[in-house]
Amino acid sequence: MTSLLQIEKRHLWHPFTPMQAWCDEGHEPLMLVSGQGCYLRDQHGRDYLDGNSSIWTNIHGHSHPTIHAAIRAQLDQIAHTSFLGFTHEPAIQLGQQLVDLLPGSQLSRVFYSDNGSTAIECAIRMALQYWKQNGHPQRDTILAFDRAYHGDTLGAASVGGIPVFKGSGNDFGYRVQRVPTFEALDQLPPEEVARLSAVIIEPLIQGSAGMRLWPNGMLKALSDWCRQRDVFLILDEVMTGFGRTGKMFACQHEEVVPDFLCLAKGLTGGYLPLAATMTTERVFEGFLGAGRAFYYGHSYTANQLGCAAALGSLQVFREEQVLERLPEKIRVFTSLLDSLRDIPSVIDIRQCGLVAGIEIGPYAPEKLMGVKTCLEARKHGLLTRPVVDTLVLMPPLAATESELEKMVDALRQAIVTIAATV
Ligand SMILES: *Cc1c(COP(=O)(O)O)cnc(C)c1O
Repeated sequence: MTSLLQIEKRHLWHPFTPMQAWCDEGHEPLMLVSGQGCYLRDQHGRDYLDGNSSIWTNIHGHSHPTIHAAIRAQLDQIAHTSFLGFTHEPAIQLGQQLVDLLPGSQLSRVFYSDNGSTAIECAIRMALQYWKQNGHPQRDTILAFDRAYHGDTLGAASVGGIPVFKGSGNDFGYRVQRVPTFEALDQLPPEEVARLSAVIIEPLIQGSAGMRLWPNGMLKALSDWCRQRDVFLILDEVMTGFGRTGKMFACQHEEVVPDFLCLAKGLTGGYLPLAATMTTERVFEGFLGAGRAFYYGHSYTANQLGCAAALGSLQVFREEQVLERLPEKIRVFTSLLDSLRDIPSVIDIRQCGLVAGIEIGPYAPEKLMGVKTCLEARKHGLLTRPVVDTLVLMPPLAATESELEKMVDALRQAIVTIAATV
């Protein structure tokens, strides 16, 4: 009989994965079969802590009864219908709740799509189309930051600043201007500034760049810079949204309200793919009038099960006082992370809320020490992935203090073991 893993290696193809090594006879892929809270179980019945929230998505832990109940109840009604020419209650309720998460802000319109990349695509297209059809066709450029990551579709990858994610390395369909820092904006010639449609940024922390923190106050300064020039601000909160940084949204740390807020990963609590691009009445009104529409959408836009999961997740936030309990968890996380600073191969620890990047080295990148360390951590019951030599710890917000401690302990043992191999 052909085993599942034989079929897997014969027919499947994995994201961001060197498939030669994956298909190697000696490699036994981990097959995850179930999950409970912060734990995941593999094909052999071994349990692991979900140290990166299943690639930055999970919020309240796996198999949460409230989210399950919300999805089941919706499933008994209907799983999916088109949002093109129709509407439905879960999308309406979720839209209202998302708007209510930012009380008094100008973000009163919600456009649904499927994932982080499409949430970004929507914001970029809306910004470009807004200026084009409202008397400023010269505003054809999106400004992005070096080492940014905004997703993998061609449009989203165009504003990215990490070469390996860009494939052919081209920008597609629109002009992108890239700068390294906020200060560099002042070096832009006025004719460049006049062409800006929007600035896009991952607020407070660049994720895929290796958990790199922006200086305190930078987001606020950037927001002011945009306001003064009437340039739209697009915030990519695909990673930082839904409590990761200690507040519901990262922009709330600096009291910034963008023109576009892009949400995905944690929106459904990490249960189903769904995204939202929130924007202002001003942008919305720029698309009103005869013949005008935002020509964009996908087959599964506003999928009912996804909306139900998101409603379930927001219910958990309220019922379990998730945000209120974060400061204490973050404090514990900080002191646990501090305990890693004594290890000689730990060269930097960067933390924002319950997101941490632990940089090891200095190692040559081709030695894959980050990958090796994370594989070693599996032996100690922790699953996570590195960004080159930055080890990522991003526990679900539901992680208990003892689970946080176990995660950091597993990582410590792995770092020390792997450091001793060089
Ligand atoms: C993951 C991520 C994206 C892309 O989201 P997908 O759902 O993978 O398309 C975009 N921006 C940021 C900051 C992300 O972390």
